[in-house]
Amino acid sequence: MKTNISDALYQQALTLMPGGVNSPVRACRNVGKTPLFIERAYGDKLVDADGNEYIDYVCSWGPNIFGHCRKEITESVIRAVQNGLTFGACHKGEIELAELIKKNVPSIELIRLVNSGTEAVMSAIRAARGYTGRDKIIKFEGCYHGHSDGLLAKAGSGVLTNSLPDSEGVPKGCTDNTLSATYNDENSVKELFERMGEEIACVVIEPCAANMGVVPPKEGFLKFLRQITSEYGALLLFDEVITGFRLSAGGAQQYYGVKPDLTALGKIIGGGMPLAAYGGKREIMECIAPLGNVYQAGTLSGNPVAVAAGIAMLRLIEATPDLYSELDRKSALLEKSLFQKGIYVNRVGSVLTPFFTDGTVTDFKTAKSADVKQYAKYYSHLIENGILVAPSQFEAMFVSYAHSDEDIYNTIKIIENFLE
Ligand code: PLP
Repeated sequence: MKTNISDALYQQALTLMPGGVNSPVRACRNVGKTPLFIERAYGDKLVDADGNEYIDYVCSWGPNIFGHCRKEITESVIRAVQNGLTFGACHKGEIELAELIKKNVPSIELIRLVNSGTEAVMSAIRAARGYTGRDKIIKFEGCYHGHSDGLLAKAGSGVLTNSLPDSEGVPKGCTDNTLSATYNDENSVKELFERMGEEIACVVIEPCAANMGVVPPKEGFLKFLRQITSEYGALLLFDEVITGFRLSAGGAQQYYGVKPDLTALGKIIGGGMPLAAYGGKREIMECIAPLGNVYQAGTLSGNPVAVAAGIAMLRLIEATPDLYSELDRKSALLEKSLFQKGIYVNRVGSVLTPFFTDGTVTDFKTAKSADVKQYAKYYSHLIENGILVAPSQFEAMFVSYAHSDEDIYNTIKIIENFLE
């Protein structure tokens, strides 16, 4: 495998961008590698600048549920481009996309389009605070909700302390209102509510966590959150940036049968373009400007090209009745082969993570017990054999509708070679 061109591009990129990248995980430092520079993609494949081809299980970190370059989406984008790249004004596509999302995710009565998952969650939290008149939020250790100040928080040393910034540059005050709980641990949430329930605006959660590797909610955990938030007059915010239209057309809320007050969406709803959204109960969303006094805005929000991609994506999902059963079937093949070789796997639908660990993984602490050095070796073996997985143990593997059975079986063979 030659990487001369990628390596040269990386050296050049290092002189121009921090770490040579525009998003840190791409730097591949967790697996001791340097980035590949991608030139093009098609179906379930990526091709790098040196001409190496990879079966892609990163899928742009989730959006590419149909793989790359589905013609329905690319053609829709080309048509939209020809009518203007951005208007900064209302257009019909926004209505169509909003209707498509609402139809599939009925907890969303009013929706606002934004540009990234970070923006969606940050804005939904502002709506929750505006609506409830409360400041505190609960988040779960190991869940990622984008890089806004208040959410870059880690648990403090005491069980009931407020969180500490998890990044330099975040003032301590910004995380003072962020409380940390343990994923899948009802008691950790109960204790926070018992102590300061009247001050809590919302609980924000990845309803199936995928940013500490995949960690599914335990039976009843989401229902418990629904109950306790309602009891204390707090809101339940599902961050479905990954799970939305991924676990089912109605997202994790349909998959697990729990209805949140607010939902953040991203990735798939943009069809591969920068688009995200937040929405929920009408009376909460009516707090958003210009109806209410919670301010949130965006020059490129509802961008016509991104919206065209989103509409094509959601229409394609509707027109593919076997989408979720096929994703499940293919992903189960990978899961089964890993299990048979003694690797612990967490999988929900088409998101899965093999953990190099002796125990089970149910929260951040158990996820962290995984052997990252072993994962780095696994990554190296896969990439050298034409398989691209996330360059970190604590990410998900995404399976798309474009993954052929042949490519899945080839992947299994290569993983088995490594494990043997
Ligand atoms: N929420 C979740 C669950 C995510 O996985 C991510 C990104 O991976 C975000 C929010 C942030 O989205 P973005 O990277 O589009 O800002």
